[in-house]
Amino acid sequence: MTVRLPLAEVEALSRRCLVACGADAANAEAVTRTIVRAEQDHSVSHGLFRLPGYCASLKSGKVDGHARPTVERPAPSVVRVDGKNAFAPLALDVGREPLIETAKRQGVAALALVRVHHFSALWAEVEPLAEAGLVALACTAYKPVVAPAGARQPFFGTNPLAFAWPRGKKPPYVFDMATSAMARGEIQVAARDGHAVPLGAGLDAAGEATTDPNAILDGGVQLPFGGYKGSAIMTMVELLCAGLIGERFSDEAAKLDNDDGGPPQGGEFMLALDPQAFGHPNWLEHSDAWLERLAGLEGVRLPGQRRHEARQKTPTTGITIPSALHAELLALAG
Ligand code: NDP
Repeated sequence: MTVRLPLAEVEALSRRCLVACGADAANAEAVTRTIVRAEQDHSVSHGLFRLPGYCASLKSGKVDGHARPTVERPAPSVVRVDGKNAFAPLALDVGREPLIETAKRQGVAALALVRVHHFSALWAEVEPLAEAGLVALACTAYKPVVAPAGARQPFFGTNPLAFAWPRGKKPPYVFDMATSAMARGEIQVAARDGHAVPLGAGLDAAGEATTDPNAILDGGVQLPFGGYKGSAIMTMVELLCAGLIGERFSDEAAKLDNDDGGPPQGGEFMLALDPQAFGHPNWLEHSDAWLERLAGLEGVRLPGQRRHEARQKTPTTGITIPSALHAELLALAG
């Protein structure tokens, strides 16, 4: 059974739940914006589905719902935001403008978010940078749920990586993917909805390949995408988000987490490049024509296309969520 909700109701419900569970207006607003954007783009695993986890971390006190993240400048091209244990969206709100301004001034800039709790989809974080004319890359780690290539025990987070490229007046080109074969949220949604997952998504508790999402979630382990190559990219994400900026690697985050169902404390790394600074005045026309040739190949669709199609429809159709989730959220909202 499902319930249909207009986006305005998604927004109101999210805000009510977060405030009822201990967030102030600014913190509730920042998280609500990411939840509404996820639902609008049909990123189901990072919309209302995540709200009980956000609320659990507010209630347990792991996340400070009254945090005021602050900006530091450790080097001319580096913006460092101390999230003060907020959810990541508010820390990003604080760091975005300094990052854009620095990238436009210097050609290259990086953003280090520390002491944040990241639970959202990364595309919504790189897209605004590309809308501001910048090339952007973002990644974050999590808790160990993925076995490195060759191993059977969890060590990496699902370590998403997102990339955005500006296209002038057109929507930016954006891809955003867990570097595990599947995002954990997608496996949880499959378990909830009684669907199998593709072979290669994970192993069961005995270390055997399985298509049963419950077997992966209950004592099993997820796998990287693309075998040892994905595993290597997962190491890059961990090193950028923990080793470089002084935050917790996924295995360290797990040891310090209270397992309340919400995200652990960790870091996020973002890179912003201003194409105007690279000496190729025709970069936009050149790259755009190439993306058009790519999209024109038979069988190809560009990453982001599914989201953009949903984005046009959901303001009139609304979205659907399982009735059980709706009831849980109404209870959280009091
Ligand atoms: P998907 O595998 O669904 O998609 C990955 C990318 O590939 C998307 O950009 C998608 O575009 C694109 N894509 C999908 N199918 C095709 C196709 N047939 N042809 C071309 N492009 C395609 O995403 P994941 O399940 O890996 O990740 C889902 C979300 O989970 C991400 O937003 C990620 O940021 C988030 N996540 C967050 C974590 C956190 O700790 N905060 C941890 C892990 C993941 P489109 O969207 O248009 O389909």
